[in-house]
Amino acid sequence: MGDIISIKDIDIEKKKVFIRCDFNVPQDDFLNITDHRRIHSAIPTIRYCLDRGCSIILASHLGRPNEISSRYSLDPIAKRLARLLNKEVIMAKDVIGEDAKNKVSNLQAGQILMLENVRFEKGEAKNDKNLAKELASMAQVYINDAFGVCHRAHASVEAITEFFDENHKGAGFLLQKEIDFATNLIKRPIRPFVAVVGGSKVSGKLQALTNLLPKVDKLIIGGGMAFTFLKALGHDVGNSLLEEDLLDEASRILAKGKNLGVKIYLPVDVVAAPSCSQESPMKFTPVQEIPSGWMGLDIGPASVRLFKEAISDAQTIWWNGPMGVFEIDKFSKGSIKMSHYISEGHATSVVGGGDTADVVARAGDADEMTFISTGGGASLELIEGKELPGIKVLRIKEN
Ligand code: AMP
Repeated sequence: MGDIISIKDIDIEKKKVFIRCDFNVPQDDFLNITDHRRIHSAIPTIRYCLDRGCSIILASHLGRPNEISSRYSLDPIAKRLARLLNKEVIMAKDVIGEDAKNKVSNLQAGQILMLENVRFEKGEAKNDKNLAKELASMAQVYINDAFGVCHRAHASVEAITEFFDENHKGAGFLLQKEIDFATNLIKRPIRPFVAVVGGSKVSGKLQALTNLLPKVDKLIIGGGMAFTFLKALGHDVGNSLLEEDLLDEASRILAKGKNLGVKIYLPVDVVAAPSCSQESPMKFTPVQEIPSGWMGLDIGPASVRLFKEAISDAQTIWWNGPMGVFEIDKFSKGSIKMSHYISEGHATSVVGGGDTADVVARAGDADEMTFISTGGGASLELIEGKELPGIKVLRIKEN
């Protein structure tokens, strides 16, 4: 695989630069941005271009609009970016329409233009060449800094790169950083390397588990997915989340781990409740004693202690997936405590997945983690060892 072309390898001086960003941020019912991490993360690349006298065209998607609607407009994003940069961000009324084209042609050095939501164009998700060509015609240089969408072959991510040669396209600083962290984790982890995985299902993380197993020293499994493993070991898990069809796969992973000398840790106790709500009664119970009809919704205090000890000597930790139903206060303690322990240690801590990033933010530990990925699906696919379509097209071709 060739190296990634970086923005630093390109002569962007005074050029028109098109930057594909990932401004897909969460918003509340009033369209207030509730977490602007993704906007903030785009700033180093934007500043780098500003410092070189570029005129900048920004493009992003927001949500999954079925039609053009103000609900999905990038206008609030442009306003927040303007505040963060302390600089005007001109907003286009469309993506490749008359307004966008006029504003692009009048764009001066040092000015920033934000196009409307690229998914307002139907061709975006279809990787449409015509749309890609129209977008490409706006600029002399293409930069991809939208890690969160690199696992999708979309027009502004993949097809657009066909219209730029290797001297005029490359990765922005955020994308480069995301790739570097994931690559170092997989290829050069400082040991002991511990993977902490959780979340709802084994199926969603099966490929990542399989790819990681030969690379880690320890694997800690929590969250809903732990119950398929516990069941495979013969425990009665009551009404807990269970994937019957993956029981054999879970047994295989446990056996393979043993063969490879990987230490695998599962919860020894859980927070059990008859239903998944804040009002429900709950109790701590060993995994051997989950009452029938009840479900495990968080790891218990003994498991928290066990996992804390297991990560205490880690030099590298990759964490993806909450330990319980953290959205409900009652079942969030296991995840919050894991966040504290992972961030307090001296290990290089890399967090992937939107839910896990939420846990870390709620725990107040975001500044203490080494790196929090801005991509959910994309970050998982990198760890699975896949070549993402948006990244593949930015590699230097090898002869
Ligand atoms: P994922 O998208 O696979 O990382 O899963 C994240 C979701 O897993 C969160 O919404 C959690 O509420 C959920 N989750 C974590 N632990 C459990 C559990 N024990 N039972 C049911 N859902 C869980």
